[in-house]
Amino acid sequence: MTRTAEIIRDTEAVTARNYAPLPVVIARAEGVWAWDVDGRRYLDCVSAYSSLNQGHRHPRIVAALIEQAERLTLTSRAFHNDRMGAFLRRLCGLCEMDMALPMNTGAEAVETAIKLARLWGYRSKGIPDNAAGIVACKNNFHGRTTTLVGFSSEPQYRDGFGPHTPGFTLVDFGDAAALAAAITPNTAAFLVEPIQAEAGILMPPAGYLAEVRRICSANDVLLVFDEIQTGLGRTGKVFAYEHEAEAKPDILILGKALGGGVYPVSAVVSSAELLGLFRPGEHGSTFGGNPLAAAVGETALAVIEDEALAERAAELGAYLRNALETIRSPAIREIRGRGLLLGVEFEKAAGTARDYCSLLAERGVLTKDTHAQVMRLTPPLIIGKPELDWLVEQLAAVLE
Ligand SMILES: *Cc1c(COP(=O)(O)O)cnc(C)c1O
Repeated sequence: MTRTAEIIRDTEAVTARNYAPLPVVIARAEGVWAWDVDGRRYLDCVSAYSSLNQGHRHPRIVAALIEQAERLTLTSRAFHNDRMGAFLRRLCGLCEMDMALPMNTGAEAVETAIKLARLWGYRSKGIPDNAAGIVACKNNFHGRTTTLVGFSSEPQYRDGFGPHTPGFTLVDFGDAAALAAAITPNTAAFLVEPIQAEAGILMPPAGYLAEVRRICSANDVLLVFDEIQTGLGRTGKVFAYEHEAEAKPDILILGKALGGGVYPVSAVVSSAELLGLFRPGEHGSTFGGNPLAAAVGETALAVIEDEALAERAAELGAYLRNALETIRSPAIREIRGRGLLLGVEFEKAAGTARDYCSLLAERGVLTKDTHAQVMRLTPPLIIGKPELDWLVEQLAAVLE
């Protein structure tokens, strides 16, 4: 029995089966490469769902982690710590916003944004108690808490976990008129991903983000962008909403790559008017804003800026897309996405995306299927052209 098979057997015996991982056991990684327990090397084209934009174990981020771990790791928010302010100042500077509220996971940050939108609805907009509504989109993915799965349109995420939190309405993604029609005097916010990544890299029509911005402003509704996956350089801009002029949200939700691939760090970023609504005791997190997270988060942002990772994603994303489009295969239905957030959709008759992910793994490329027919290609943004060429070669070989 290989080491891989042995570890999978022993792990699965004690692990809940809420995932169905490919049979690869990773033991070590650096940059864009990962090695399994049997010594095989893989090109990581998943990047922990865009959490590894800076690559595995970026030396500056790991150094910040270790340095901070040797000084101070956790205080709770019962006290101040000497790292959180500098992190949030840098984050607010990058977002061109006033204030941030640090959390840990993406789902927690989305929950925080929902609480903030409701609070604003009651305290500022004057919505009657317990009547605040939030409009979200079909095919959304905002995380796995009970409230968030309750307004998912994906039965696998939602069914079996009711009763669901009321107060959410779903409209078609990409349909600005549907948003306008769904808004009522009690609507507090519109929550949306600029690109629906988990749903299969679904792109809205051009102009959609600016149009929903205009509709929200005209109706006194907060615009909330969940950029947990699209943000921090992935799509070729620091934030995906920057692809359209005049689309800046009232509330921006970040996570994943904010933790630099080493630690869970998320945040809600907004104006002083909005985040200033929270009073002591109304929200919190034991680990949110801890000094270790702050040191890692600040350095994760520094790497994105200093290494111009958004510009890199724009250039390399175009390069990869062009190379993928030279593959002439009847199995490919569509290639879509932006920057290094790309999806390859396969024809149903040609097999599932997971079939192709398995074949690629055998050739040393890690990819992930999403929604049966779509393979996501989201390598670390530090990847180079030779590695992208190699990826395309492997995919072409698998398709033959
Ligand atoms: C991953 C993701 C989340 C949830 O983040 P977790 O850290 O897994 O809780 C929320 N929204 C989007 C768009 C995501 O991609």
